[in-house]
Amino acid sequence: MDILQKIQALRDELNQHNYNYYVLDNPTISDYEFDIKLKELQQLEEQYPQYHDENSPTHRVGGAITKNFETVQHEFRMYSLDNSYSKEDLLDWEKRAQKILGDVPLEYTCELKYDGASISISYENGKLKRAVTRGDGFQGDDVTNNIKTIKAVPIQLKGDYPEKFDIRGEIILPLAGFEKMNQELIEIGETPYANPRNTASGSLKLQDSSEVAKRPLDCLLYSIIGNNLPFTTQFEGLEKARAWGFKVPKQSHLAKNMDEVLDFINHWDKHRHDMPFETDGVVVKINNIHQQEELGYTAKSPRWAIAYKFKAEQVSTRLNSISYQVGRTGAITPVANLEPVQLAGTVVKRASLHNADQIEKLDIRINDEVFVEKGGEIIPKIIGVDFDKRPQDSEKTVYISQCPECQTDLVRKEGEAQHYCPNFYGCPPQIIGKVQHYITRKAMDIEGLGGETVALLFNNGLVNNYADLYELKKDQLIPLERMAEKSAENLINGIEKSKEIPFERVLYALGIRYVGETVAKKLAKHYKSIDAIANASLTDLVIVDEIGEKIAQSVVEFFDNQENKLIIERLKKYGIQLEMAVSNDTVVSDKLSGKTFVVSGVFSKFSRDDLKKAIEDNGGKVGSSISAKTHYVVAGDNMGPSKLEKANQLNIPIINEDEFLTMVNG
Ligand code: AMP
Ligand code: ZN
Repeated sequence: MDILQKIQALRDELNQHNYNYYVLDNPTISDYEFDIKLKELQQLEEQYPQYHDENSPTHRVGGAITKNFETVQHEFRMYSLDNSYSKEDLLDWEKRAQKILGDVPLEYTCELKYDGASISISYENGKLKRAVTRGDGFQGDDVTNNIKTIKAVPIQLKGDYPEKFDIRGEIILPLAGFEKMNQELIEIGETPYANPRNTASGSLKLQDSSEVAKRPLDCLLYSIIGNNLPFTTQFEGLEKARAWGFKVPKQSHLAKNMDEVLDFINHWDKHRHDMPFETDGVVVKINNIHQQEELGYTAKSPRWAIAYKFKAEQVSTRLNSISYQVGRTGAITPVANLEPVQLAGTVVKRASLHNADQIEKLDIRINDEVFVEKGGEIIPKIIGVDFDKRPQDSEKTVYISQCPECQTDLVRKEGEAQHYCPNFYGCPPQIIGKVQHYITRKAMDIEGLGGETVALLFNNGLVNNYADLYELKKDQLIPLERMAEKSAENLINGIEKSKEIPFERVLYALGIRYVGETVAKKLAKHYKSIDAIANASLTDLVIVDEIGEKIAQSVVEFFDNQENKLIIERLKKYGIQLEMAVSNDTVVSDKLSGKTFVVSGVFSKFSRDDLKKAIEDNGGKVGSSISAKTHYVVAGDNMGPSKLEKANQLNIPIINEDEFLTMVNG
């Protein structure tokens, strides 16, 4: 086989694996095997630049920077949709169509309305040519580089696709991915994103496509546009698109009449929260394309389609008061205390107000009747005020200027939405919050010590920072509330055991602003010891992969601080791991030979990739899904429930990472 053939075969194979994983949700090889093949292709492409192809799967990781997105004309206009809110609206719409088409029976394709950012993608000869945002419907922005990083979007089509066509769909951010992104932001003390839709559409306009590649975006397609297309109904069009390699949700349904349409709507009105992404309604389309052509368009939207909007899950209630919470990094979050009210099946008492700008923009005041909505977010939010019900004597909300906990004047840096209490080492919730963060599972994982006990220790003057934990004595603890001999002992033992926690987690535990788990790992790997990090300058730090100016600045500030210096000296003295241990991935054996492992969940001693590597280094195989051929499942936290069920069904032993380590290290 010559080189080009080899490159092409690898590209085809990798495209197929991407398709299996991201479109079918059914991977057939392990991530590790995939990475090996991808690296092989990358090397070949570097070695033989004459075979460069911008559509190679190696380009999926992004890298291209777009400073200005080029405006391009849509060959076919992108219309919007008329909305309907009731059965009557739909019946009226059907009547209007029948008036034009004659009194013929009509069939409909019913689809969920995906809540994201619309996109139009052009294909020629089976290759992705260009992706353009909707813009004003006539012209949009060319975001091809960013779209190519979304792995559900095929770069090379399969089967009997037409030579040239556009396909329309929605770029969405599934809820699980959205919450994970927000969790990471919260962890490093940043403001979480407001909702999946805006985050998805914001992602399309990021300048650095490798940033887009990191976001768990998805692309759901719903319509093929072009000349001489090989189908005569919308429903067939969806099936074709699926066959060519596009992700078309299988909920789409062919309804024989309006009654079936209404059944579909009723079903999804109840079950929309079962979907892994947000949907705000149903789109009903007259199925037959000839009938669609006959009906044509109004100035804004097709006459052959209509959106049915689900009722917003919104209520109104009284705002009793606003409280201000101080986070461990000093960030102030205003919280609305509401008159309790039923919303989407739960009682809501509190809602997020985000920041001062939000309160100002919506002019939210105490005693206002406010509208509260629950979207995909974890906590509900206030979306507006019922001004008709505003009391006469209402007064404009004045944002606090001093910390509610320590009375220090708040600061707000330019360009930042959040106010901060700068009294980082003297403000009680910050002190307690930092220690609470230090002991969490992903950080020092101190058993026998909970968040409330930390507050108790602080309130009794025993702990003012995390170094103080290591000086605690049993007889200091026993007099405390709810503290028995046994629990005091457990606490001391738990603290003692934390001295084994590896450096990268210690670094994360220190709670340096903007240093989350991933950043801590990067810094630890790069610098190998706390002293090296402490001595690094701003310019040194920004050279490290993925460390931006903001993070670097925060690291430098942390280590410049006199109190932090003292705390770190003390941690050293107590024997905390402040440098990298020799890594455990150097063990190589054939102890696991002939055994297949499936890895599931999140681990504390390994990254998933390291764990997979450790299995392979010891002669084992990594399987991607549980089957009768699996010998062991290595389970971390948050193992998927379906995997758990499958493993139990097949009687496959489930081991944790410690048991795995014993297996290889003896
Ligand atoms: P609107 O933005 O409310 O006018 O709704 C129209 C938009 O809904 C279209 O531009 C699409 O981006 C989006 N949409 C989401 N799901 C679908 C679907 N299944 N069929 C057609 N349009 C959809
Ligand atoms: Zn304070």
